[in-house]
Amino acid sequence: MQPLNSETIVSYARFDDLWGAPAFVLALDQQRDIYAHGNLALGIFTLILVGASAGVALGLMYGLERFFIKRLRRLARETGQISANRDFTQRVTVPGTDEIAAAAASVNVMLDALEQSHRETIKAHHEAVQALTVRERIVANVSHEARTPLSIINLYAETCQRGMYGPVTTKQYEVLNTIRSSGFQLLSFINNLLDEAQLHSGKLHLHEMEFAPRDLVESVKLLAEPLAAKKALLLAFDIAPDLPPLFLGDERRLNQIAVNLVTNAIKFTETGSVEVRLFPRDDAQWVLQVADTGIGIPAQALDHIFEPFWQVDNSDTRPVMTGVGLGLSIVKQLVDLMNGSISIQSELGRGSMFTVTLPLKVAVRSALYLST
Ligand code: ADP
Repeated sequence: MQPLNSETIVSYARFDDLWGAPAFVLALDQQRDIYAHGNLALGIFTLILVGASAGVALGLMYGLERFFIKRLRRLARETGQISANRDFTQRVTVPGTDEIAAAAASVNVMLDALEQSHRETIKAHHEAVQALTVRERIVANVSHEARTPLSIINLYAETCQRGMYGPVTTKQYEVLNTIRSSGFQLLSFINNLLDEAQLHSGKLHLHEMEFAPRDLVESVKLLAEPLAAKKALLLAFDIAPDLPPLFLGDERRLNQIAVNLVTNAIKFTETGSVEVRLFPRDDAQWVLQVADTGIGIPAQALDHIFEPFWQVDNSDTRPVMTGVGLGLSIVKQLVDLMNGSISIQSELGRGSMFTVTLPLKVAVRSALYLST
């Protein structure tokens, strides 16, 4: 029996003769009705199955889209909007009672907390800005108000010392000296306070003009020599011979940097020497180096030394000094303002070396100076 094609099947039967040899074959073909029905049924069943599966899948997709994905997308969109607008007063709105709605409610609880802390941060920032402004105003006013009477005290002490109001005894002379030096200390403290406040608020500006670096060195020398002599320290100035006659820069602030470093070096050195060097690093940069053989700075203190109001812990090994820890902070900020850099090398008990590198422009008139 053999299917001929999809519609017909043929059955064969062989007949033998009397001697057993094949005589003839009987072929009987027949329509494949049952097979055709089976095929049709199978096709219909497959169609129904595919249709039903597609229907279920579509239904599932619709359900997922409507009940989950759409709401998740809405949650994502609303949280995205809140974070983009940084508006923590907004809330997400995903209705329902399922897990997505619970997640949305949690997001809203988090937004409540965020809004609260955001409000507190703004308030604290506002208060801090106000406090800073008030602090700046107080520092500026106090400095101004304190400087005038202090200058008068110093002036009267000086004129009195010179005998302008009658003869002065040795004891009175000494007392007037103490008044003057305390007045000077107070004045420099007030000036430092004002500088620090102005530097901190970015209100200190440099005034660039031509100046003679040799004059600047001389004025530092004039101030430092008596201080070093008092402690019997060797004070040496090693100035590069090719120092240009004129630089362009803020002389007053450069003087302040040099004086601060040199007076610190003398203040923290009991025996030995203080050496001030001024030399070029390259065509555009000059180096001011102040080296001493003093008490040195502990390694762990080097990271903080430029912070305002910071002083090395005054243990027994460090003498009790005047000053409030503003000098180096001001120096660092001034050097930064001049686009320079400052570094320290120090060894406890052996001394310190401060190196300031500054881009100093040589004034054009220097050429004229050189030729005359
Ligand atoms: P002040 O001198 O007013 O205390 P500074 O900011 O000038 O403040 O210095 C901060 C601290 O750094 C000082 O208290 C001192 O301990 C340390 N220091 C500064 N210069 C030197 C130095 N040349 N040698 C040793 N210690 C120093």
